[in-house]
Amino acid sequence: STVRAAAKTYTIGTDVTFAPFEFANKDNKYVGIDIDLMHAIAKEEGFNVNIKPLGFNAAVQSLEAGQIDGTIAGMSITPERKAKFEMSDPYYTSGVVGAVKKNSTIKSLADLRGKKVAVKTGTSSADYINSIKSKYNLTVVTFDDSNNVYQDVITGNSAACFEDQPVMQYGIATGLALKIVTKPAESGSYGIAIKKGDKHLLNMVNDGIKKLKANGKYDKIVAKYLGNGS
Ligand code: GLN
Repeated sequence: STVRAAAKTYTIGTDVTFAPFEFANKDNKYVGIDIDLMHAIAKEEGFNVNIKPLGFNAAVQSLEAGQIDGTIAGMSITPERKAKFEMSDPYYTSGVVGAVKKNSTIKSLADLRGKKVAVKTGTSSADYINSIKSKYNLTVVTFDDSNNVYQDVITGNSAACFEDQPVMQYGIATGLALKIVTKPAESGSYGIAIKKGDKHLLNMVNDGIKKLKANGKYDKIVAKYLGNGS
């Protein structure tokens, strides 16, 4: 009989609150599109995963330091990240939008001139805001998780927050008293980041994404969290 090596376990970092991609449900269990997708890829490819909700920036930093094997966190594929990590093939399209309090009169970036805006540390929203802050004379405040970013606007400390469109839409649909006032900027795709040099894991992840997209399981995962109309 053949002796088979035990399936390897990979440690994958994720964000703490980034619904519908990763969030703790009412039983305090981590669920979401990314969580289901990562488990489905592992099952398809015959490896085990240990998912760690470290927070976005911490997950990216841990991966860069080689302390974990990968990060799945609605992570946008960018040239900078492609230089630091192996980035998988794209699996979801996104862009950055600005949101204000539901009763706010702010309707555009121009209306934010001279005001305070909140973003999450290490994200493409933070990069975007830093790229336009001198043009609009913005003061940027940063937080490590999305909930604190939204709360800063709800409490009135910041005039707006900038966040990925599907996440902001989901948050508003599930009860956040905010509204989106800008068109998506910095549009791009989410990919899974793998430790630099681990082509074996990268190939398995890409192969898994391809199979799950072809066999309909990927669409089922997305529909489970967003419904068929999304
Ligand atoms: N897509 C954004 C980025 O990659 C935000 C990710 C996140 O906040 N989890 O920077």
